[in-house]
Amino acid sequence: MTEISDWRYRIERYRLIGVRCRRCGSVYYPKRSKCIKCGSSDLEEVELPKRGRVVEYTIVRLLPDRYNRFHPYAVALIELDDGTRIYGQLTDVDLDKIHEGMEVEATLRKLYEYGESGQIVYGIKFRPVLSR
Ligand SMILES: [Zn+2]
Repeated sequence: MTEISDWRYRIERYRLIGVRCRRCGSVYYPKRSKCIKCGSSDLEEVELPKRGRVVEYTIVRLLPDRYNRFHPYAVALIELDDGTRIYGQLTDVDLDKIHEGMEVEATLRKLYEYGESGQIVYGIKFRPVLSR
């Protein structure tokens, strides 16, 4: 992804906008132009709920250079409150305490910096929902 498109999609990422297939109802995040299940390209944008639960997760330890400062980190398959399943990086969490069924919510976080321009790119990560 180029720097310009990163900037263009920044707000969209924060709002967790996906698409729903008008023919079969499948939901995708990130957005795509064609439905994997039925092949239709009649997709409409939908705003997805920001809360969900960890279905399964994995700890990532080998990463490209620009991510090194964050590693290791956890990537989880998350089932959102509407049943949509998406992959997301977990943040603000002790890697030893992640568990299936853990409640998480979307939050805007720094993803990485471009070395030369210093531009900072933000995107969605998921953090544990703290009991109040
Ligand atoms: Zn479809």
